[in-house]
Amino acid sequence: MRLDIVTIFPEYLEPLNVSLVGKARARGLLDVRVHDLRRWTHDRHNTVDDTPYGGGPGMVMKPEPWGEALDEIIASGEGDPVLVVPTPSGRPFDQATAVELAEKPWLVFTPARYEGIDRRVIDEYGERLQVRELSIGDYVLAGGEAPVLVMVEAVARLLPGVLGNAESHRDDSFAPGAMADLLEGPVYTKPPLWRGRDVPEVLLSGHHGRIARWRRDEAFRRTARYRPDLIERCDPAALDADDRKL
Ligand code: SAM
Repeated sequence: MRLDIVTIFPEYLEPLNVSLVGKARARGLLDVRVHDLRRWTHDRHNTVDDTPYGGGPGMVMKPEPWGEALDEIIASGEGDPVLVVPTPSGRPFDQATAVELAEKPWLVFTPARYEGIDRRVIDEYGERLQVRELSIGDYVLAGGEAPVLVMVEAVARLLPGVLGNAESHRDDSFAPGAMADLLEGPVYTKPPLWRGRDVPEVLLSGHHGRIARWRRDEAFRRTARYRPDLIERCDPAALDADDRKL
């Protein structure tokens, strides 16, 4: 998968060199290209922003550098990328979106600063490409670089060969399948006794059926406590008789 990220703070994306994403890059599973938007400015000050039409506080990112940058990047590859525009006014980025993006061969991210990018840029590329305006949560950050780090990591861990154990995202919170729409319950490792606290006996039993039931019940309890909205949304057919007792 190829990822292009256009930003005025390329150094903000350095975490993409470490851990899971860094290893995926080193192994050739991910081709990540970070571009400095100022490369596509032509004035002495490398200006990327200007005052908003209609007045108001803050600055808006100028369309020209974005247009030149995106034209060049799009022309440099085969086929069309999906343009991912991080914005608090976008659709929520969730696990289903990560799964969908993980199936695309090429994503171009446009993390903005100030009050965002001149709307005409999104409208222009929306006529030629798939554009996804995505928010990572109901709060406003100073820039789109942190949202890009979040989205890239969520997508990258779903790519074949990236996680050491391909099964390890199967039981994650929100994972499709048996645990669809539920949060994951608690997890434990050795030692069996720590500061007087036991590991739940069922996890030491070796009984796969009981362990699966316990995990599902814990996931269900946790979801009911922290995210009752997920249970309300979940398909009633996905619930079994034991779930309904909880
Ligand atoms: N004026 C904008 C608004 O209220 O919708 C906020 C602009 S914000 C200060 C600057 C940039 O940070 C945004 O254009 C976007 O790239 C990024 N950003 C901030 N919060 C975000 C969020 N929750 N999700 C995704 N991107 C976000």
